[in-house]
Order: sequence, then C-alpha cells, then structure tokens
Amino acid sequence: MKCDPTLYRATPPSLAVKPRLIRHLFLPPLIIALTIGLGYLGFWISEHYGIRGLAENGERQLELHARAVESEISKYTYLPSLLELESSVSQLLDDPTPEHRKTVNEYLEGLNRRSLSRAIYVMDTTGRVMATSNWRDVDSYLGEDLSFRAYFQNAVRGQPGRFYGIGSTNGEPGYYLAHGLEQQGKIIGVAVVKVRLEAMEERWQRARLEAFVSDENGIIILSSDPARRLKSVRPLSDDTKERLARSLQYYWFPLNELIPLARERLTEGMEKLTFPANTEVAAEKQAISYLSQTRPLNDTPWNFTLLTPLEDLRRQSINQGILVAVAFALVAFLLIAWNERRKVIATRLAAREALQEANSQLERRITERTTDLRASNDRLKSQIRERRQAEETLRRAQDELVQAGKLAAIGQMSTSIAHELNQPLAALRTLSGNTVRFLERGQLDTASANLKTINELIDRMGRITASLRSFARRGDDKGRASLGKAVEAALQLLAGRLENQGVQVHAGFDDIQVQIDQTRLEQILVNLIGNALDAMQDRPEPRLWLEGQAQDGKYRLRVRDNGHGIDPETRKHLFEPFFTTKPGEQGLGLGLTLSASLAAAAGGHLDVEHPEGGGSTFVLSLPLVSPLSAEPL
Ligand code: ADP
Repeated sequence: MKCDPTLYRATPPSLAVKPRLIRHLFLPPLIIALTIGLGYLGFWISEHYGIRGLAENGERQLELHARAVESEISKYTYLPSLLELESSVSQLLDDPTPEHRKTVNEYLEGLNRRSLSRAIYVMDTTGRVMATSNWRDVDSYLGEDLSFRAYFQNAVRGQPGRFYGIGSTNGEPGYYLAHGLEQQGKIIGVAVVKVRLEAMEERWQRARLEAFVSDENGIIILSSDPARRLKSVRPLSDDTKERLARSLQYYWFPLNELIPLARERLTEGMEKLTFPANTEVAAEKQAISYLSQTRPLNDTPWNFTLLTPLEDLRRQSINQGILVAVAFALVAFLLIAWNERRKVIATRLAAREALQEANSQLERRITERTTDLRASNDRLKSQIRERRQAEETLRRAQDELVQAGKLAAIGQMSTSIAHELNQPLAALRTLSGNTVRFLERGQLDTASANLKTINELIDRMGRITASLRSFARRGDDKGRASLGKAVEAALQLLAGRLENQGVQVHAGFDDIQVQIDQTRLEQILVNLIGNALDAMQDRPEPRLWLEGQAQDGKYRLRVRDNGHGIDPETRKHLFEPFFTTKPGEQGLGLGLTLSASLAAAAGGHLDVEHPEGGGSTFVLSLPLVSPLSAEPL
C-alpha cells in the first residue's frame, strides 16, 4: 500500500490546534447538554405515554365507579314517586288528622328502614313536613317548613327535585330526591327521600381510590378525601356564594375553593392537577400530582371525578429519563473511546505504513547500492586482473631486461673475460709445449711442476666460467628468501675460516623475508663475508658485524668488518669485473660485480661505506616481502 506523503505534511500550527481546541472546549458541554436534554426527553415521553396508559385505565375505572354512583342514586329515583300510589299519603294530605299522620309516619318509617335511606318524608304544597320516617327522633322534620329548599320548589312545580344538601335540622349531608305527588292532575304535596351517599366514600377509601363527586354548583359533595369535601372545584362568584349561603344548601360551610398548585388541561375531561400534600401523606412530599378524569353522572347535574396519582408514574419516568441519559452518556463515552481508539489505530497504521515505506525505500537503496557495489567490484576485479596481467607482463619484461642486462654485462665483460681466459690459455700453450720438451729431456720433475701449474690454470678458468654461468643463468629474481637462513647458511659455509681467524660475529638483524632467490642471497652473503674475512686476515681481534633495519619497504643489511679497509684508488674500481687486489690466485675480481648485479636484478642494490674507525661496510638493500604481495590477489 502506497502512503500518500501529503497525509503527513505538517499542518500550520494555528490550523492544526484550532479544531482540537474547539472540540475539547465544546464537546464536554455539548455532551452534558445532550445528556440532560435526552434525559428530559426520555422523562417527557415516558410520562406522556404513561399518562396515556393511565388515562386508558382511568377511563375504565371512571366508567366503573361513575356507574356505581349512578346505580346508587338511581336506586332511589322512583322511591318518592311510589308514595303517589300510597292512599294513606294522599289521605293525609287531604285530611291531616293525627291518625292519618301516624299511619303515614309508621308507613314511611318502615319504608325507610327497608330502603336503607336516611329519611323519607311528605310535605304539603306549602312546604311543611306532614309526615316523616324519623317522626320518633328529637330532631324530626315533622312540622318543619322546608319550602325554601330548591328540591321542594322544583317538585311542587312538577319537576323532579334533585338536590344535595346538608340538613338544616341536624346538619347531616344527604341527597334529596323530591317528587310532586299528583292527584287528578294536581299536585297535592311533595314526597322526599333523603339518601345517604357516605357509604360510597367509605367504599372508595377501602379501594384506595381517590375520587370525588361535584354538584351543579361545582361543590364537592362526596370525596374519598374528607379534606376536599364541600370545597368548590371552580371559582365561585360572590353572588353565587351569597345565593348558596342563603339557600342553606351547604349549611354554614364556608365553601372554599379547592385550589390546585398546578393545573394542566390534557384533553376534554382530563387534567393534570397538583395538590398540596395533606397531612396524611408523608411529610417530605410537598405536592402530589394527579391525573384527573371527569365524567358527568347520568340523570344528575353532577360530575364524577377520578384522581389517579401520578407519583409512581413520575418516579418511573424520572428513572426512564435517568436511564436514557445514562445510556446516552455511555454511548457517547463509548463513541469517544472508539473514536480515540480509531485515531490511535489510524496513527499506528500510518506510522507502520511510513515505516514500511521507509523500509522498502531503504531496501531499494540497498539493492541499488549493492548493484553499484557489485558493478564496481566487478570493475575492480577486472582492473586487478588487468593489473596482474600488466604486472606479469612487466615482470616478464623485467626478467627479460635483467637477462638482457646480464647478457649485456657479460658482453661488456667479454673483453676482460677473453683477456682473463687468453692469459691462462697462452700460459697453458707455453707450459704444455715446455712440458713436452721437459718430458723428452727426461726432466720429469720440471714436467710434473708444469703439469701442476696447468691444472691450477684450468681450475682458475673453470671457476671463471662457473661464475659467469651461474650469473647468466635465468633464475627466479623475484623469489623469497629468509635473511636468517641465508646468513646461517653463509656462516656455516665459511665456518672453517671464521674459526681459524678467530672472528667475533655480531648479529643484529631481523629474520625477515626479502624478495630474492634464497641461493642468490646466500651467494651474495658468501661473497661479502668472504671479502670481509680476506680483509681481516692477520688483523688482531677480527670482528664482523651483521646489522639490519627496515626502511622504505626495503631491508638494509650492513656487513661491516674491522679489516684493512679500502684505499681511495681501489674504491674507484670496486664493482668492475675482474678487479681484485688479492694476490695470486686468491681473487677473481667477480664477487662484488656479480653480487651487485644479483641485488639489482632482485630490485635492490649494493653500496659500500667507509667507516671513519676503519674497516669497510657493504650495504645490501633488498625489497621486503610485504603482506600485500605475500597474499595472492
Ligand atoms: P676478489 O675478491 O676476487 O678480489 P671482489 O670483486 O670480490 O673480487 O673484490 C674486489 C676487490 O675489492 C678486492 O680485491 C679487494 O681489494 C676489495 N675488497 C672487497 N671487499 C673488501 C673488504 N671487505 N675490505 C677491503 N677490501 C675489499
């Protein structure tokens, strides 16, 4: 996967910081606001649907209990009209004699007992009570004028008189059902049944039902909560208050208004009411909310109101709201955590990709470099090969040159050689001629001496040609030689002479490797040490120093003696072939010449120094075997 480098391009600080700052500043309050908002929304929806559920259930309850109230009332609806059929009642109204009154009183008493009503009584058309079921009681209505009662006024006009009121005699509340008693189309009196409705209140209380019934004036006449009884559910005007007070319908009760703390109209006949908590409810509750559902009661101008407490629903809704808020907070937290994690993963991925990219770039570069290196390595190898070939060519050329040089040297020497060889040859001719003559003369001793000299001369010629042959031979001028071994071999070869002369040898050189053939090095050393021994012959305390040191890639071996030294005249001819100062047959004059040629052929050289303290020093410089040249390339 290829990384887009622009992704990692640094954003200007102001632009990079701002969104993050904004996010950090505004995100927490936003989340808190959303949490609260959603919590409230959850609460509201829960309450809304809860109220709807409660309303549906309440509707059924309302219907049930309203029907119960209706049936309770309707039980007595026809009771007053039944008295129309009772002849004793009409007789009493026609002729109010004590006997008739007693008969009706007793009849009404019995009827009241059976019907479980509070009282049944009969009034004449003036509103005076003619007979009553409670005629025996002290506070009996008998003889009382109740013409001011609205139910009487309605009934005497032939209308059904329905009335809730508090008895003016004994102050007992009751429901009055009045009926105008007709005889031949004329109202002759009014029959009234006073019904107790408190039983219903008790029933509601037992069923833990909160309900009340309000009459046409809006006054609560029945209530499961006694505190609400005789309170008005709607505001009463002063006129109405006065009228009601005058009618004594509610006795002398003040008829205060039932004022809710809050009222919210939901639908027709349905409200949400909040009342201050009464003493019976737990003290910590300041107010109680109710769902109030009202329905008119049939055959009466009354309304039945059912109050469903909303406390449980409210608690449930609060819980739901909290649940929603917590759930949202949790989801928000999880989302933030997920987002942070996603960012971390994205950063890691980007870093990994960048690393991979860098890695592959590195690998690419390594491959390129390796290719370059391989190419330059190949180039180097071919250069080395070329160099080796050149070296080989050079070496061959050098060999050829050396050989040519040697042959040239021999060529240069040829006159001297010819001279050197001609002299003994001439001597040999003379000697051999003489020897023949001496033999003819019988001079055997002289002939023998001559033959001896001839032998010596032949030996000398043989040595000259041997030296030249070994010099001219094509050898390995670039071989390797151990200096230690070469010195040892030379000293061993000359051991007899060293011992005879009593020479002290001082060795101060390193056992190193030099670039020359081992035999040739030994040959040079034998020449130099041999010359030194010759120079130290007959010298007291002869000493030989062999000292060496490495310098500029060469090893300089100094062969010093305390011999007679070399006089200035001799110094001029030292390296000339066949130059010798040695008497007789002792010197050939080829030692230094050949040694210098061999050293030069090996890339070194031979010098001479003349120490002030006497003696001579021959310095042999030879190339060192370097570690580079020691290893084959
Ligand atoms: P040869 O030894 O046969 O004479 P060289 O070429 O070896 O031939 O020496 C040439 C001459 O150099 C010698 O004859 C001698 O005079 C002189 N010479 C060489 N080495 C020494 C030395 N160590 N001390 C004094 N003279 C020397």
